[in-house]
Amino acid sequence: MGEMTRCARGIALAIGVALALFTAGCGGDDDKSGDRSPVSGESRSADAGDSLSPLIVSAVQPAVPFKGSAGKYLVSYELRLFNATPLTLTPSRVSISTPDGAVVRKLGRKDIAAALALPSTRSGVRQLGEAQRATLYLTLDFEDRSDIPDRLVHRIAVTNERLAGGRAVSAAASVKVAKDFDVPVLGPPLQAGRGYIAADSCCFSERHRRALLAIGNGQWLAQRFAVDWEQIDSSRRFVKRGGDPAKPADYTIYGQRAIAAADAKVVQVIDGLRDQTPGALPQGVTLPEADGNAVVARLDDGLYMLYAHLQRGSIKVKKGDEIKRGDLIGLVGNSGNTSAPHLHFHVMDGPSALTSEGVPYVIDEFATRGRLRSTAVFDKYENTTTPFDIVRFDGDADNDDELPLDLTVDDFK
Ligand SMILES: [Zn+2]
Repeated sequence: MGEMTRCARGIALAIGVALALFTAGCGGDDDKSGDRSPVSGESRSADAGDSLSPLIVSAVQPAVPFKGSAGKYLVSYELRLFNATPLTLTPSRVSISTPDGAVVRKLGRKDIAAALALPSTRSGVRQLGEAQRATLYLTLDFEDRSDIPDRLVHRIAVTNERLAGGRAVSAAASVKVAKDFDVPVLGPPLQAGRGYIAADSCCFSERHRRALLAIGNGQWLAQRFAVDWEQIDSSRRFVKRGGDPAKPADYTIYGQRAIAAADAKVVQVIDGLRDQTPGALPQGVTLPEADGNAVVARLDDGLYMLYAHLQRGSIKVKKGDEIKRGDLIGLVGNSGNTSAPHLHFHVMDGPSALTSEGVPYVIDEFATRGRLRSTAVFDKYENTTTPFDIVRFDGDADNDDELPLDLTVDDFK
């Protein structure tokens, strides 16, 4: 099998030899195009086959573009990084370009650290140890849809003093951009009202966007584009004035009507779970109970909507029902793995809220009035009667076919 096999053995036999190989390269592969493995049928040659790769970079899903409520087109996707060396590698540069080499974006160390996550640490990761894997969460914005390339090509530089020149660059990793995929155009998931808060929405909050779950022999990110809908009252409070933050019914959002965001067929209903006491995440909630009382419904295009944390006994639909846009689904509650009443809503590519992949969608009509200052402020005052400051929104408040972005204050008609 030639040079590459001998290189791989070098790593196994002696780290010192392997380091020499990282620094010296591995000699060229002869032209083997057309060679296929008699075992797997896979091609036995790779485009970048003339040196060892300290860092292996792989695409996860195609990136699906959509319009966000700030008016720009977004692609938000992930790469998996694997440190194939015995060294500690520091990612120092991510270059993202079009297939013909035009630079789309460059990330330096600080941006990379903000985007790089481990299971224990959802941001702020600066180094990868021996054989460590991590996920790089990327979000790019474009003024016009026509500016979005069909593919995005990534090269990641890593540093370690024992690499040749102290640095190495990964082979190119290409992510397909599914520009021809029509994201679902939905109505609001909640009744008409003012002051809904799109908590933990795309793209830089971590609780949904980076909620990568290992289940079976796979990793899944069903909540990739989820929103936790909460609501402020006319005095900008989550918990009503004079209310008790430990009582679900004293939250502005509690009891609001969750409605069908589109025509759909109900495929799963979970009911019977009581409201949790707000203030902290409950102990002992099992994975199947995490969504609380919940409804999953299949859209005409084969995608699925999830409504989670509804009030016990409030769900008005049953499995097999064909529902129409605007139909009452149930009332917002605080069941499942939740620390405050809210509606968790997302769209996914399968019926399981755990083993599916989150897909972006847009809402056809809503108005964005502003934004809460930060996730830290949100967390500080979520379970209080303290009024929120709202950063007023400068742009066009009326949104057509856009995804409500993180912490926006939105009105539904
Ligand atoms: Zn949620």
